[in-house]
Amino acid sequence: MLKLSKEIKKRRTFAIISHPDAGKTTLTEKFLLYGGAINMAGSVKGKATAKHAVSDWMEIEKERGISVTSSVLQFNYDDFCINILDTPGHDDFSEDTYRTLMAADSAVMVIDASKGVEKQTRKLFKVCLLRNIPVFTFINKMDREANDPFELLDEIEKELGIKTCPVNWPIGCGKDFKGVYDRKTKIVTTFSGTSRGQKEGASSEVSVNDPDLIRIIGQDYRDELMDNIELLDGASDEFDMELVSSGKLSPVFFGSALTNFGVEIFLRNFLKMTSPPLPRMSNKGLIDPVNEKFSAFVFKIQANMNKAHRDRIAFMRICSGKFEAGMEVYHVQGNKKIRLSQPQQLMAQERKIIEEAYAGDIIGVFDPGIFSIGDTLCVSAEKFEYEGIPTFAPEHFARVRQVDTMKRKQFIKGISQIAQEGAIQIFQEFNTGMEEIIVGVVGVLQFEVLQYRLENEYNVEIRMERLPYEHIRWIENKDTDMNKLMGTSDMKKIKDLKGNPLLLFVNSWSIGMTIDRNPGLKLSEFGR
Ligand code: GDP
Repeated sequence: MLKLSKEIKKRRTFAIISHPDAGKTTLTEKFLLYGGAINMAGSVKGKATAKHAVSDWMEIEKERGISVTSSVLQFNYDDFCINILDTPGHDDFSEDTYRTLMAADSAVMVIDASKGVEKQTRKLFKVCLLRNIPVFTFINKMDREANDPFELLDEIEKELGIKTCPVNWPIGCGKDFKGVYDRKTKIVTTFSGTSRGQKEGASSEVSVNDPDLIRIIGQDYRDELMDNIELLDGASDEFDMELVSSGKLSPVFFGSALTNFGVEIFLRNFLKMTSPPLPRMSNKGLIDPVNEKFSAFVFKIQANMNKAHRDRIAFMRICSGKFEAGMEVYHVQGNKKIRLSQPQQLMAQERKIIEEAYAGDIIGVFDPGIFSIGDTLCVSAEKFEYEGIPTFAPEHFARVRQVDTMKRKQFIKGISQIAQEGAIQIFQEFNTGMEEIIVGVVGVLQFEVLQYRLENEYNVEIRMERLPYEHIRWIENKDTDMNKLMGTSDMKKIKDLKGNPLLLFVNSWSIGMTIDRNPGLKLSEFGR
């Protein structure tokens, strides 16, 4: 029990979120570097280099140099065992990112200092808000021309609706970036060019009251720093751990991931402030990570990561207890006992088979096609279910058919499996069966992934016809007579695979009209 508790308490499981290009990959790489998990930066994702990203499994990712799927990296640093949930930054894969955030205990939000809050930051932040998880802000690229730090904080507060509390403060930026000032210890860590971030840089520390500081950063920067400190102490929100834990206050750090400045300061502070795995809500109440036996939920399914093996991996977040290889667990949604085979973890560069894992860890298990996103596994006599993962409303739709009618079976199998993984959602015409399949996706790139995968993995060529709809609504009222429903002329009635009726709309005006014309009709954006 003591060992179990010790192991769980040292776990820190978090996701890094950012708008593409803000520096998430670079920051992750530097974290790994400190953990000794990689020897040299530049190996997480090789956009321009020959090296492939650790997280780039699919061909399509390599071809395009974007990270399509999220991966998980585990490494040790100090006394912590860190699980980083990597999230695809690409706009088109936000749904995958949303689910990944469900498995995280906190989030690190990387912001480009010259761009501030960007579109994707906003979207991802909303999910953090839904879950009330703590969000830690790293304002990156201070070695470049940056916006005024006060304005950046203001923007975060106004745009995201979260209060901010700078833990440190930058001195200058770009060519004149001098370092950061730690508000608690009152120490200035000076910026020194590292070998382009390839090694831990040697930087010196000096007290803000040390006269030597003037020599190091210059009189003007010192004066400006003193003014800023006064302003900050007077105006910014005070550090309050409770507000941080409930996601209402974001501690803010400044630095430069590329030149490896401020990264370790951030990592150290962040690990201290963020919590070990906390109890998680189930339909039978809160489940304690230490006192309960093994339980986990599936947050991601990925097929054919290794084409040679044609395997499908279900990623699960362990929420309580200890996992041991080969153990028998109860799959709640399948109502079946199963043995989890080939449990694996991704350690920086390679997948490895694991013998044991603890609450907070993410494991991938071989999935013979039985799991769906959101499923619970447990060994407790009292079978419980963790809260489900919401389905996000697709915003793009297409009618899909196979070219060769003889391949009907493979087509249905392929498209159903891809839908089960949560990459796409599939629907049917309201009045006909599976002859016509309508695919809905959150990001348009998923259409290409679908086409690519059906061809490569299932040997089925498809033809896709884009449909003009942008909005989907589930009908909440169970007793609605679909034939009597009065919609607009551009509305389309469809159903999901369970037979639930849905409506597709071209614009939000049509949604409003339909609600007006059908008193009592309740429409919902989220599927169940
Ligand atoms: P991601 O899309 O958020 O994962 O961003 P990357 O980590 O791939 O970084 C995008 C680009 O910004 C790359 O060319 C990085 O080298 C560069 N970059 C990342 N961090 C910094 C930084 O601190 N300073 C500067 N100047 N460039 C950076």
